[in-house]
Amino acid sequence: MEWRNWAGNQQARPQAVLHPRDTDEVAQVVKRAATEGRRVKAVGAGHSFTAAAVTDGVLLDLDRMAGVVASDLDTGLVTLHAGTPLHQLNLELARRGLAMSNLGDIDRQSIAGATSTSTHGTGIALGGLATQIRALELVLADGSVVTCSADERRELFAVARVGIGALGIVTAVTLQCEPSFTLVADEQPMPLAQVLDELDDIVESNEHFEFYWFPHTELALTKRNNRLRSGEPAAPIGRVKGWVDDELLANTVFNLTCKLAARRPTLIPRLNRTAAKLMTARRYTAPSYEVFVSPRRVRFVEMEYSLPRAAFKDGLAAIRAVIEREQLLVSFPIEARWVAPDDIPLSTAYGEERCYLAIHMFRGEPFERYFGAVEKELRALGGRPHWGKMHWRTAEDLRPVYPRFDDFVAVRDAVDPERVFGNAYLETVLGR
Ligand SMILES: Cc1cc2nc3c(=O)[nH]c(=O)nc-3n(C[C@H](O)[C@H](O)[C@H](O)COP(=O)(O)OP(=O)(O)OC[C@H]3O[C@@H](n4cnc5c(N)ncnc54)[C@H](O)[C@@H]3O)c2cc1C
Repeated sequence: MEWRNWAGNQQARPQAVLHPRDTDEVAQVVKRAATEGRRVKAVGAGHSFTAAAVTDGVLLDLDRMAGVVASDLDTGLVTLHAGTPLHQLNLELARRGLAMSNLGDIDRQSIAGATSTSTHGTGIALGGLATQIRALELVLADGSVVTCSADERRELFAVARVGIGALGIVTAVTLQCEPSFTLVADEQPMPLAQVLDELDDIVESNEHFEFYWFPHTELALTKRNNRLRSGEPAAPIGRVKGWVDDELLANTVFNLTCKLAARRPTLIPRLNRTAAKLMTARRYTAPSYEVFVSPRRVRFVEMEYSLPRAAFKDGLAAIRAVIEREQLLVSFPIEARWVAPDDIPLSTAYGEERCYLAIHMFRGEPFERYFGAVEKELRALGGRPHWGKMHWRTAEDLRPVYPRFDDFVAVRDAVDPERVFGNAYLETVLGR
């Protein structure tokens, strides 16, 4: 049986693909596989571009382990099955009057898959998704079921929130949620130079700020999302306008543009200039999770690096210089985001404020020269690659950018000495 990821750039031929229904079943599978010397890997929604979820052993698809197990409206603590997709989580939370404090661009991932690779949104005062975790239930390599939190198995909890699938199969996650809130989305095209001039102020004066720079142009699309204050009037987006912007322009037209650009790359600068000119300002209010996420139907491959916040402008300039020097024609915009520091050893925002720069290529187009050259530049700026997005880094060169890398490895050695949860990707990024 063949397994493929969302982007189609990773394949696996597992010995078996199983869909366990509960933690006991996961524990039995792991115990048996460990006794037989097989390796086990959990998969979420397969939205990682790297081979993080690839295995030739037993693939555990947790799609049947979805939904909220318990919720407490007073504390905002919500426990859910690890395979719960974020879109289901958002609706289940909304029904209870709750919400995630922050989200990334899409809601197709599973909660365990998203947090395992340090998935993040944007907002300089807000951490990545894993910082919302308050407890985890895991099946370890010997088939035992353990829970960990700030009070129980603290060492395991500290590292397992971003575990890249290396420590065990996460079967349940407890999240700190908050009361539902409405966001005011404010999207405006701006000259890139002006964004860069006003950058610190914009990043700090908005709860969530990101922008997309269109290569071969001087324009950026900026997105500011802030909470609707009490007394401020709501202004929902019209159905037709929402559909035109999010489905027709961002997906259908963009898909056709990418196909045309793939056939006639020399058109890319002109296509980008046209796309940038077509961008219009819009402002609307909606429930937080509807503002955070957008449908992404155009398939691509992506690399994303986190950098110390102070290195942002150098990072963007380096990408620009690579595109010019290598004479690359790039149709996808470059995405820029900011995230607060956290204390999770393998979080890409560990220890300091970080900014993120993401580059993309239409699926099937050669990306290696572009991504490879950009990686070289961003690595020199103290960059940490997203665990779920393309990169060529190894344990040897990742260790220096993660001050607590060896703490992670020590816990891994203790809980999975035989590497039941190992795969080629983990050998590369963590070592054997
Ligand atoms: C269109 C698109 C948009 C994206 N947008 C963003 C974004 O805005 N921000 C961002 O940071 N990232 C983003 N990503 C990356 C994505 O969030 C991560 O790659 C994420 O890990 C994918 O989640 P998944 O459920 O598909 O996990 P998978 O890709 O299936 O798995 C990821 C890792 O988690 C492990 N894993 C999965 N489930 C478990 C479990 N139960 N127990 C233990 N380990 C487990 C897997 O073994 C693997 O190592 C995007 C990706 C795509 C394709």
